[in-house]
Amino acid sequence: LIRPVDQNELMARCRTQLRRKKYEDQLRDNYHTSLTLAVTDPLTGLYNRRYLESHLDSLMQRAAQDDKPIGLLALDIDHFKAVNDTHGHAAGDEVLKEFVARIKRSVRGIDMAARIGGEEFVVVMPDSTHETCISVAERLRESVAESPVTLPGLGTEIPITVSIGVSMSQGASDSPDNILKRSDDALYVAKDTGRNKVVSDQQDEQMATAQGA
Ligand code: GH3
Ligand code: MG
Ligand code: MG
Repeated sequence: LIRPVDQNELMARCRTQLRRKKYEDQLRDNYHTSLTLAVTDPLTGLYNRRYLESHLDSLMQRAAQDDKPIGLLALDIDHFKAVNDTHGHAAGDEVLKEFVARIKRSVRGIDMAARIGGEEFVVVMPDSTHETCISVAERLRESVAESPVTLPGLGTEIPITVSIGVSMSQGASDSPDNILKRSDDALYVAKDTGRNKVVSDQQDEQMATAQGA
Protein backbone atom coordinates (compact mmCIF):
# COMPACT_ATOMS: atom_id res chain seq x y z
CA LEU A 1 0.00 0.00 0.00
CA ILE A 2 1.22 3.50 -0.80
CA ARG A 3 0.53 6.51 1.38
CA PRO A 4 -1.91 8.07 1.69
CA VAL A 5 -3.73 4.83 2.39
CA ASP A 6 -7.08 4.55 0.78
CA GLN A 7 -9.46 3.04 3.30
CA ASN A 8 -11.49 1.16 0.70
CA GLU A 9 -8.42 -0.27 -0.92
CA LEU A 10 -7.08 -1.36 2.48
CA MET A 11 -10.33 -3.14 3.27
CA ALA A 12 -10.52 -4.77 -0.15
CA ARG A 13 -6.96 -6.04 0.16
CA CYS A 14 -7.55 -7.37 3.65
CA ARG A 15 -10.62 -9.19 2.44
CA THR A 16 -8.69 -10.78 -0.42
CA GLN A 17 -5.83 -11.84 1.87
CA LEU A 18 -8.23 -13.29 4.44
CA ARG A 19 -10.09 -15.19 1.74
CA ARG A 20 -6.84 -16.60 0.43
CA LYS A 21 -5.73 -17.58 3.93
CA LYS A 22 -9.04 -19.33 4.56
CA TYR A 23 -8.78 -21.19 1.28
CA GLU A 24 -5.22 -22.33 2.02
CA ASP A 25 -6.20 -23.50 5.52
CA GLN A 26 -9.02 -25.49 4.02
CA LEU A 27 -6.69 -27.08 1.49
CA ARG A 28 -4.30 -28.02 4.28
CA ASP A 29 -7.12 -29.50 6.40
CA ASN A 30 -8.40 -31.53 3.44
CA TYR A 31 -4.88 -32.76 2.79
CA HIS A 32 -4.44 -33.88 6.42
CA THR A 33 -7.88 -35.50 6.42
CA SER A 34 -7.15 -37.51 3.31
CA LEU A 35 -3.72 -38.49 4.61
CA THR A 36 -5.35 -39.71 7.84
CA LEU A 37 -8.04 -41.57 5.93
CA ALA A 38 -5.40 -43.21 3.76
CA VAL A 39 -3.55 -44.73 6.72
CA THR A 40 -6.25 -45.32 9.34
CA ASP A 41 -9.33 -47.45 9.79
CA PRO A 42 -12.40 -45.22 10.30
CA LEU A 43 -14.20 -47.54 12.77
CA THR A 44 -11.39 -47.97 15.30
CA GLY A 45 -8.92 -45.21 14.43
CA LEU A 46 -6.10 -47.77 14.27
CA TYR A 47 -3.61 -47.84 11.42
CA ASN A 48 -4.73 -49.92 8.45
CA ARG A 49 -2.99 -52.75 6.62
CA ARG A 50 -1.46 -50.43 4.04
CA TYR A 51 0.26 -48.35 6.72
CA LEU A 52 1.36 -51.44 8.64
CA GLU A 53 3.01 -52.96 5.59
CA SER A 54 4.96 -49.85 4.66
CA HIS A 55 5.98 -49.04 8.23
CA LEU A 56 6.87 -52.57 9.29
CA ASP A 57 9.51 -52.72 6.60
CA SER A 58 11.42 -49.73 7.96
CA LEU A 59 10.95 -50.85 11.57
CA MET A 60 12.45 -54.25 10.74
CA GLN A 61 15.35 -52.75 8.83
CA ARG A 62 16.17 -50.44 11.72
CA ALA A 63 15.87 -53.28 14.24
CA ALA A 64 18.25 -55.43 12.17
CA GLN A 65 20.77 -52.58 11.88
CA ASP A 66 20.70 -51.92 15.63
CA ASP A 67 20.69 -55.65 16.33
CA LYS A 68 17.51 -55.30 18.37
CA PRO A 69 14.60 -57.72 18.55
CA ILE A 70 11.15 -56.88 17.28
CA GLY A 71 8.01 -58.86 18.01
CA LEU A 72 4.80 -59.17 16.06
CA LEU A 73 1.45 -60.22 17.54
CA ALA A 74 -1.33 -61.39 15.20
CA LEU A 75 -4.74 -61.22 16.88
CA ASP A 76 -8.07 -62.61 15.75
CA ILE A 77 -11.30 -62.38 17.77
CA ASP A 78 -12.73 -65.85 18.42
CA HIS A 79 -16.09 -66.77 16.85
CA PHE A 80 -16.77 -63.17 15.95
CA LYS A 81 -19.28 -64.18 13.31
CA ALA A 82 -21.49 -65.49 16.13
CA VAL A 83 -21.43 -62.02 17.78
CA ASN A 84 -22.84 -60.49 14.60
CA ASP A 85 -25.32 -63.33 14.11
CA THR A 86 -26.62 -63.09 17.67
CA HIS A 87 -26.50 -59.34 18.36
CA GLY A 88 -26.36 -57.70 14.93
CA HIS A 89 -23.68 -55.91 12.95
CA ALA A 90 -23.94 -52.62 14.89
CA ALA A 91 -23.30 -54.50 18.14
CA GLY A 92 -20.35 -56.20 16.41
CA ASP A 93 -18.93 -52.78 15.59
CA GLU A 94 -19.22 -51.71 19.24
CA VAL A 95 -17.41 -54.88 20.29
CA LEU A 96 -14.61 -54.08 17.83
CA LYS A 97 -14.25 -50.58 19.32
CA GLU A 98 -14.10 -51.87 22.89
CA PHE A 99 -11.65 -54.57 21.82
CA VAL A 100 -9.37 -51.89 20.40
CA ALA A 101 -9.69 -49.82 23.59
CA ARG A 102 -8.43 -52.85 25.50
CA ILE A 103 -5.53 -53.35 23.08
CA LYS A 104 -4.54 -49.72 23.56
CA ARG A 105 -4.54 -50.11 27.33
CA SER A 106 -2.25 -53.15 27.13
CA VAL A 107 0.48 -51.88 24.79
CA ARG A 108 3.14 -49.18 25.08
CA GLY A 109 3.30 -45.93 23.15
CA ILE A 110 6.02 -47.20 20.82
CA ASP A 111 4.09 -50.35 19.94
CA MET A 112 2.12 -50.03 16.72
CA ALA A 113 -1.39 -51.48 16.52
CA ALA A 114 -3.15 -51.93 13.19
CA ARG A 115 -6.45 -53.37 11.99
CA ILE A 116 -5.55 -55.56 9.02
CA GLY A 117 -8.93 -57.18 8.46
CA GLY A 118 -12.48 -57.33 9.82
CA GLU A 119 -11.66 -58.77 13.25
CA GLU A 120 -7.94 -59.23 12.65
CA PHE A 121 -5.30 -57.04 14.21
CA VAL A 122 -1.54 -56.77 14.47
CA VAL A 123 0.61 -55.28 17.21
CA VAL A 124 4.26 -54.57 16.36
CA MET A 125 6.55 -54.35 19.37
CA PRO A 126 9.93 -52.76 18.63
CA ASP A 127 12.88 -53.42 20.92
CA SER A 128 11.11 -56.20 22.80
CA THR A 129 12.29 -59.65 23.79
CA HIS A 130 10.33 -62.81 23.14
CA GLU A 131 9.51 -62.95 26.84
CA THR A 132 8.11 -59.40 26.84
CA CYS A 133 6.01 -60.06 23.75
CA ILE A 134 4.54 -63.21 25.26
CA SER A 135 3.66 -61.46 28.50
CA VAL A 136 2.07 -58.50 26.68
CA ALA A 137 0.09 -60.91 24.51
CA GLU A 138 -1.00 -62.84 27.58
CA ARG A 139 -2.04 -59.63 29.38
CA LEU A 140 -3.98 -58.60 26.29
CA ARG A 141 -5.71 -61.94 26.03
CA GLU A 142 -6.71 -61.73 29.69
CA SER A 143 -7.99 -58.15 29.39
CA VAL A 144 -10.33 -59.30 26.61
CA ALA A 145 -11.53 -62.47 28.34
CA GLU A 146 -11.83 -61.19 31.91
CA SER A 147 -15.01 -59.10 31.40
CA PRO A 148 -17.71 -59.02 28.74
CA VAL A 149 -18.21 -56.02 26.48
CA THR A 150 -21.19 -53.97 27.64
CA LEU A 151 -23.10 -52.35 24.79
CA PRO A 152 -23.55 -48.61 25.40
CA GLY A 153 -27.18 -47.67 26.11
CA LEU A 154 -28.44 -51.24 26.01
CA GLY A 155 -26.49 -52.85 28.81
CA THR A 156 -26.26 -56.12 26.85
CA GLU A 157 -23.14 -58.01 27.87
CA ILE A 158 -21.18 -59.84 25.19
CA PRO A 159 -18.33 -62.09 26.29
CA ILE A 160 -15.48 -62.36 23.79
CA THR A 161 -12.08 -64.00 23.62
CA VAL A 162 -9.08 -63.53 21.35
CA SER A 163 -6.42 -65.85 19.97
CA ILE A 164 -2.91 -64.49 19.47
CA GLY A 165 0.08 -65.68 17.46
CA VAL A 166 3.52 -64.30 18.34
CA SER A 167 6.66 -64.21 16.24
CA MET A 168 10.06 -62.53 16.62
CA SER A 169 12.11 -60.87 13.86
CA GLN A 170 15.06 -62.89 12.59
CA GLY A 171 17.61 -60.26 11.56
CA ALA A 172 18.44 -58.66 8.23
CA SER A 173 17.19 -61.49 6.02
CA ASP A 174 13.70 -61.37 7.52
CA SER A 175 10.82 -59.54 5.82
CA PRO A 176 7.37 -58.17 6.79
CA ASP A 177 5.70 -60.95 4.79
CA ASN A 178 7.71 -63.59 6.62
CA ILE A 179 7.14 -62.31 10.15
CA LEU A 180 3.43 -61.84 9.40
CA LYS A 181 3.28 -65.37 8.05
CA ARG A 182 5.01 -66.84 11.12
CA SER A 183 2.65 -65.00 13.49
CA ASP A 184 -0.29 -66.10 11.39
CA ASP A 185 0.85 -69.73 11.53
CA ALA A 186 1.14 -69.47 15.33
CA LEU A 187 -2.32 -67.86 15.44
CA TYR A 188 -3.67 -70.75 13.42
CA VAL A 189 -2.26 -73.16 16.02
CA ALA A 190 -3.93 -71.13 18.79
CA LYS A 191 -7.26 -71.42 16.95
CA ASP A 192 -6.73 -75.09 16.28
CA THR A 193 -5.87 -75.97 19.87
CA GLY A 194 -8.80 -74.36 21.64
CA ARG A 195 -8.76 -70.54 21.05
CA ASN A 196 -8.50 -67.90 23.82
CA LYS A 197 -4.76 -68.54 23.95
CA VAL A 198 -1.34 -67.22 22.99
CA VAL A 199 0.96 -69.33 20.83
CA SER A 200 4.49 -68.37 19.82
CA ASP A 201 6.31 -69.59 16.72
CA GLN A 202 9.13 -70.55 19.06
CA GLN A 203 6.95 -73.16 20.73
CA ASP A 204 8.24 -75.59 18.13
CA GLU A 205 6.77 -78.69 19.63
CA GLN A 206 3.28 -77.27 19.71
CA MET A 207 3.58 -75.97 16.15
CA ALA A 208 4.84 -79.31 14.88
CA THR A 209 2.09 -81.22 16.66
CA ALA A 210 -0.66 -79.00 15.28
CA GLN A 211 0.76 -78.98 11.77
CA GLY A 212 1.04 -82.73 11.85
CA ALA A 213 -2.55 -83.06 13.03
P1 GH3 B 1 -12.63 -67.74 14.35
O1 GH3 B 1 -12.66 -67.99 15.82
O2 GH3 B 1 -12.21 -68.95 13.61
O3 GH3 B 1 -11.80 -66.56 14.01
O4 GH3 B 1 -14.15 -67.47 13.91
P2 GH3 B 1 -14.78 -66.10 13.42
O5 GH3 B 1 -16.26 -66.26 13.47
O6 GH3 B 1 -14.22 -64.96 14.21
O7 GH3 B 1 -14.21 -65.97 11.96
P3 GH3 B 1 -14.91 -65.72 10.58
O8 GH3 B 1 -13.78 -65.37 9.66
O9 GH3 B 1 -15.79 -66.88 10.21
O10 GH3 B 1 -15.85 -64.49 10.78
C1 GH3 B 1 -15.38 -63.19 10.91
C2 GH3 B 1 -16.59 -62.30 11.04
O11 GH3 B 1 -16.22 -60.94 11.23
C3 GH3 B 1 -17.47 -62.32 9.80
C4 GH3 B 1 -17.78 -60.86 9.53
O12 GH3 B 1 -19.16 -60.65 9.39
C5 GH3 B 1 -17.27 -60.14 10.75
N1 GH3 B 1 -16.79 -58.80 10.46
C6 GH3 B 1 -15.75 -58.44 9.67
N2 GH3 B 1 -15.59 -57.10 9.67
C7 GH3 B 1 -16.57 -56.59 10.45
C8 GH3 B 1 -16.93 -55.26 10.83
O13 GH3 B 1 -16.32 -54.25 10.45
N3 GH3 B 1 -17.99 -55.12 11.67
C9 GH3 B 1 -18.68 -56.19 12.13
N4 GH3 B 1 -19.71 -55.97 12.96
N5 GH3 B 1 -18.37 -57.46 11.78
C10 GH3 B 1 -17.33 -57.66 10.97
MG1 MG C 1 -10.59 -63.81 11.05
MG1 MG D 1 -12.17 -64.53 14.17
